[in-house]
Amino acid sequence: MRTTTRSGRMCLVTGEAVIDVEQASAGRFSADPLAVFEEWDAFRSWAAKVEPAGAHGATGPDGSVSPTPRQVFAIGLNYRGHAEEASLAAPESLSVFTKFATALTGPDTQLRLPSGRVDWEAELVVVMGRRAEHVAAGDAWSYVAGLTAGQDYSEREVQSVGPVPQFSLGKSFPGFAPTGPVLVTADEFADPDDLAIECLVNGESVQKSRTSSMIFPVAELIAGLSAVCPLLPGDLIFTGTPAGVGHARTPQRYLRPGDEVITRIEGIGQLRQTCVAA
Ligand code: ZN
Repeated sequence: MRTTTRSGRMCLVTGEAVIDVEQASAGRFSADPLAVFEEWDAFRSWAAKVEPAGAHGATGPDGSVSPTPRQVFAIGLNYRGHAEEASLAAPESLSVFTKFATALTGPDTQLRLPSGRVDWEAELVVVMGRRAEHVAAGDAWSYVAGLTAGQDYSEREVQSVGPVPQFSLGKSFPGFAPTGPVLVTADEFADPDDLAIECLVNGESVQKSRTSSMIFPVAELIAGLSAVCPLLPGDLIFTGTPAGVGHARTPQRYLRPGDEVITRIEGIGQLRQTCVAA
């Protein structure tokens, strides 16, 4: 099953059709995506019976797959190649920060570049479908609503100013957390732990890996995070980026007005940002 949002309203995607959930369910399910994530199992049962032929509405998604989450987690250094390019050892425990929710946006946007050094980080994003507290890794996938593509845009000057890194602030300018174009449930993938992930800047492939290269796979992230914070329906987890960020290149490379960034994940689709001066 696939979902997205349009004008902040929860939508079901069947084939080419984008269906408004509140209208199609005659009010049984709310237009509010968070309310739908709160009763995810019932929603999935209803969605399985929706006839694609009855679809109305043709325009595509324009918002985050979960636009108003209560928590957004992000994981640093979760691919060996990215740890190596940062000249850091592969971590033995989770490195966690947040992207503040005001940074969330949809899949196809203009990215307003603040002054500084803005970098790209293609990431698989997990959306939670049930409250998860002290969940074992073996049970973790049953708490997941689905997967989507995300970008963890990062301004490296704010990130590194001060006595310790400020990942959360440097990665939370408006528009720095696009997700989409759709949320895809795990059953749609042959192996949800092994998806091709790629980032292209102006058509040049700058990051190319598979999510099976994560140091801590999705289930271990949920186990580790939920051991401290209960994870809530609609919460997002940005799961870390593979090697190939601009900051680690020689010479270093950052986004400029006019650049186009495409982020692709197998079985989900792509994000597209066009960079403009702020
Ligand atoms: Zn990241």
